[in-house]
Amino acid sequence: MSNTTNAFEMAQSQFDDVAEMLNLDPQVREMLRWPTREFKFQIPVKMDDGNIRVFFGYRIQHNDARGPSKGGIRFHPSETMDTVRALSMWMTWKCAVADIPLGGGKGGVAVDSSTLSLAEKEKLTRGWIGQIYRNIGPRLDVPAPDVGTNSQMMGWMMDEYSKLVGQYTPGVITGKPVGSGGSLGRTEATGYGVIYTVREAMKHLKLDPAKATAAVQGFGNVAQYAAKGFKEILGGKVVCVSCWDREERAPFTISHPDGVDADFLMSITDQYGSIEKKKAVPEGYIIEDGDAWLSKDVDVLIPSALEAQITGDSVKKISDRVKIVAEGANGPTTPEADVVFEKNNIFIIPDFLCNAGGVTVSYFEGVQNDMNFYWQKDEVLNRLDTKMTRAFANVLEMSEREKVFMRDAAYMVSIGKVVEAMEMRGWL
Ligand code: NAD
Repeated sequence: MSNTTNAFEMAQSQFDDVAEMLNLDPQVREMLRWPTREFKFQIPVKMDDGNIRVFFGYRIQHNDARGPSKGGIRFHPSETMDTVRALSMWMTWKCAVADIPLGGGKGGVAVDSSTLSLAEKEKLTRGWIGQIYRNIGPRLDVPAPDVGTNSQMMGWMMDEYSKLVGQYTPGVITGKPVGSGGSLGRTEATGYGVIYTVREAMKHLKLDPAKATAAVQGFGNVAQYAAKGFKEILGGKVVCVSCWDREERAPFTISHPDGVDADFLMSITDQYGSIEKKKAVPEGYIIEDGDAWLSKDVDVLIPSALEAQITGDSVKKISDRVKIVAEGANGPTTPEADVVFEKNNIFIIPDFLCNAGGVTVSYFEGVQNDMNFYWQKDEVLNRLDTKMTRAFANVLEMSEREKVFMRDAAYMVSIGKVVEAMEMRGWL
């Protein structure tokens, strides 16, 4: 594997390793190493002070052999063509491993959305659609929320698209507000999905969830519901979470000797996943360094912030007690850290399996939009549990049969399905 933290090089390196193991045809490899289509565009926005500021937007469609491209839109200052390429590629594998009939795509804007007023954010969000609406659609490419975007922004995007094409089109985007074409359970989906896979991993490793402890990185959408689910679904204890301090522009970890109360922390967290730490201290919370979550003496680590957080260096801080790393985030582990996990026999639930809950309920949302009939929350979450449990079992079975690392097994399952679809469509 290459020595890199460039997300796209990481994604290509992971793919290359498994392509080699599968002895994949070099021409097929070339097709899958790169996205099918890439769009980069300007979005000029008239700011509140009257000046025009130019933002750069992206949409990348990696592969649509199995169905329309699917993937989130990230608003983050370090968004680049390469991060979007990597994320779009991982979406192809994610949809395949979850066995939903969709391909991979991703989009974004290089911006710190917390610096925008509500009006500026709405203009930028609608501007993104204005530039790309001809190249997305319910049967073409269906975006969703990701880091820095939320359901309100998806609602604006759906509205803008509907206006531009002249008809109400809820299926163009998922993660919309409930009552405006959104699905119940979408907010919880990714975090709870992470927990369903942790539950299955614990069954496999014969660990008692009620005695298990976890440390979580991040406290945004994924991390919040992973932390809640670890306690409420599994009966375990989350000893700490971490997040980005927007004032100090640095991360911090917040822990509690009796375990954190996710509901309380959510009540003092802003829409960008930053906890107001001063409000937590009177409740007995302890504030530590940003990377303290990584060295906690726990059974499970749940990185749920951004990519490349566990590196060749930082992996050395991980306690010997850790048995499971459940990747809530996309690409949180670099290839160098992966080598250490494999050597130390740490059970990895790879990102595109572990966090497939979000895209799975996004798919359910599209199905409900098509039917114009909406399910109850329990029905959504039960269907999600079934899908996640089956996906986990398929990857574990591949890992045991081929005697390979869980990440490689997940790639083998996914690449196999995508290549099969390409063959059936006559592309190969
Ligand atoms: P979010 O914006 O809601 O939350 C991100 C969190 O990470 C925030 O709490 C932020 O404070 C924290 N953070 C950022 N930098 C940090 C650092 N250096 N140390 C500690 N915390 C830090 O984003 P999200 O939607 O929860 O997504 C998190 C990850 O999960 C991303 O990799 C995303 O691509 C992936 N993901 C999200 C979904 C989804 O449905 N939202 C689905 C699949 C995968």
